[in-house]
Amino acid sequence: MGRKWRSRAVPRAVRDVVNETTASPEGRSFLSLGSNRGDRLGYLVSALQALQVLPDIKVVTLSGIYETEPVGKSDQPWFLNLVVEIGTSLDPESLLYRVQRIERDLGRRRQERWGARTIDVDILCMALFPAWQAARLTLPHPRLAERLFVLIPFAEIAADFHITAWDVPVQQLLKRCPDRHAVRLFLSAPKLWQRMREVPS
Ligand code: ATP
Ligand code: CA
Ligand code: CA
Repeated sequence: MGRKWRSRAVPRAVRDVVNETTASPEGRSFLSLGSNRGDRLGYLVSALQALQVLPDIKVVTLSGIYETEPVGKSDQPWFLNLVVEIGTSLDPESLLYRVQRIERDLGRRRQERWGARTIDVDILCMALFPAWQAARLTLPHPRLAERLFVLIPFAEIAADFHITAWDVPVQQLLKRCPDRHAVRLFLSAPKLWQRMREVPS
C-alpha cells in the first residue's frame, strides 16, 4: 500500500509541492464523469466547462465519451461516461468540495444509490495523494477496478499511469477487469473538444 493521508490537514511541505506542480506529472489527477438523465452530453460538457474555469484546476486531457450499460441498477437509461485528467493544486477534500458543487449546480439530487442522475463526478485518483481514507473520501476510488465504463476511458488517456496504492498500471487493471457490461464509443475526444469550444459556457 502507498502512503496514507488520514487527516484533512495537508502538511505544508506537501502543499508547497502541490502548488508548484499544478498540471505537472506529479500533480496528475483523474476524474470520472457520468450522466444518464436529460441532456446527457449537455450535462457532461457543462461540467467540463465548469471545471475549466476554476482557478485551481487545469483540464489537461479528455477521453472520448462512451455510452455505457448501467451497472448495479439495470432498470435505468444508459449512461454517457468519460475520464478527464486534471492538474490541480487542491488537496483531495477541497477537490471533492469543488466537484460536488458542480454536481449541485447541474441539478444533481442524491436520491437512491446508483440511480439515474444528471451528473456524477468521482475522483479516481491523485498522484500526490496515493491513498486517502476519510469519512467523505476514499482514494483511489474503491470501485474503479471493477468498472469497464471507467477503465476503458481511463486507459484511452493514461494506460501507463501507475496506481501507486495498488502498484499496478491502468492498462493492467483493464486487462484483469471481469466486468462485461457494454461500453461503446459515443463521441471521440477531438469532437468533444470541438463541442466544448462551440457551446457557450
Ligand atoms: P460510486 O461511488 O459507487 O460511484 P455514486 O457515485 O453514485 O457511487 P454518490 O452518491 O455520488 O455515489 O457519492 C456518495 C459519496 O461518496 C459522496 O458523498 C462522497 O462523500 C463519497 N466518496 C468517497 N470517495 C469518493 C471519491 N473517490 N470520489 C467521489 N466521491 C467519493
Ligand atoms: Ca460514481
Ligand atoms: Ca459520485
